Amino acid sequence: MARTLDGTEISRVMRAEMAQDVAALQAAGVTPGLSVVLVGNNPASQAYVASKTRACEALGMRGQTLTLPEDVSKEELFAVIDRLNADPAVHGILVQLPLPAHLPYKAVLEHIHPAKDVDGFHPMNAGLAFVGDPRAFVPCTPAGIMEMLRREDIPTRGKHVVIVGRSLIVSKPLASLLMAPGPDATVTLTHRHTPDLASFTRQADILIVAVGKQNLITADMVKPGVVVIDVGQNRVSDASSPRGYRMVGDVDFDAIQPIASAITPVPGGVGPMTITMLLANTLQAARQARQGPLPLL
Ligand code: NAP
Repeated sequence: MARTLDGTEISRVMRAEMAQDVAALQAAGVTPGLSVVLVGNNPASQAYVASKTRACEALGMRGQTLTLPEDVSKEELFAVIDRLNADPAVHGILVQLPLPAHLPYKAVLEHIHPAKDVDGFHPMNAGLAFVGDPRAFVPCTPAGIMEMLRREDIPTRGKHVVIVGRSLIVSKPLASLLMAPGPDATVTLTHRHTPDLASFTRQADILIVAVGKQNLITADMVKPGVVVIDVGQNRVSDASSPRGYRMVGDVDFDAIQPIASAITPVPGGVGPMTITMLLANTLQAARQARQGPLPLL
C-alpha cells in the first residue's frame, strides 16, 4: 500500500521554518509583502486569493488584495501594476488567473516587473529558470513538487519521470527542473497527441499528472512501486458535502494506492505546496530586493 505524501504536513513544517526567516527580515526592518490583483468576482478566484493572503499574514508577511471590476480596461490594470512595481513595500505581485477575455493575459503578466514576479510566469523568469539561474522565480506548483520529492526522500537521479501534460505553468518548468544536473532524472513529457499514453505511463518510476481530467490514469496504466504525483484538480458534484461538490485529481487514487509506493492525495497533496512556494518566492523577492537591483533585470 502506497504511503501518502502529505502536502499539508510538509507545508506546515516549511511555513514554520519560513516564519523564522520572516521574523529575521523584520528585525532587519523589512516586512515581505505580497500584493494580489483580482479582476472580477469569480468565487473560485476569490477563494484562492483569500487563502494566499491569509497564508502570508499567518507568516507575518504583508498580504494585500486589490480587487478591480470585471470590466476594468487594460490601461487601468497596467496603471495598478505600475504602481505596485514602483512600491518598495511590495516585494511580490501576482495577478490571479483566469482574467476576463478582454484582457490580454500574456501582456498583463509581462507587465509585472520580473523582480516581483513571484508566480514565475514572466518570460524573463521562465528563461532564468531554464538556464538554472538561482535568481529565477520558479512557478509555484513545479517548485512545490520538487520540494515535496526532496523532503520525502524520493530519489530522482537516474529515474524515469513521465509527466502527463505540457503546460507552461506546471509541466514544462517541471521537466526542466527534473532533468537539470542535481535531480538528474530522465524525463518524458506527454500530451493530448501522445499515442498510446499507457505505454509511456507504465514505464514511469515517477508519474506526474497535470491535465484536469478525473480518472485519466487508471490502475492498468502504472507499474508496481511507482511514485504518483497528482496535480489535477477537478470539481465533482457531491450532495453529502456542505459545498455540494468535492475536489478529485486526475488519478484513480483508490485503485492505484495499493500498487504504488507513494502517492499524493487530492486535496492535501500538491495544492498546499503551491501556496507554500508562493510564500517562499515572496520571501526570496524580499531578500533579493535588499541586495539591490539585479543587473539582468
Ligand atoms: P492546462 O494548461 O490545461 O494543460 C493541460 C495539459 O494536459 C495540456 O498540455 C494538454 O495537452 C494535456 N492533456 C489534455 N488531455 C490529455 C490527454 N487525454 N492525455 C494527455 N494529455 C492531455 O492545465 P494546467 O494549468 O497544467 O493544469 C492541469 C491540472 O492541474 C488542472 O486540473 C489544474 O486545475 C491543476 N493544477 C493544480 C495546481 C495545484 O496547485 N494543485 C496548480 C496548477 C494546476 P495539449 O497541450 O496537447 O492540449
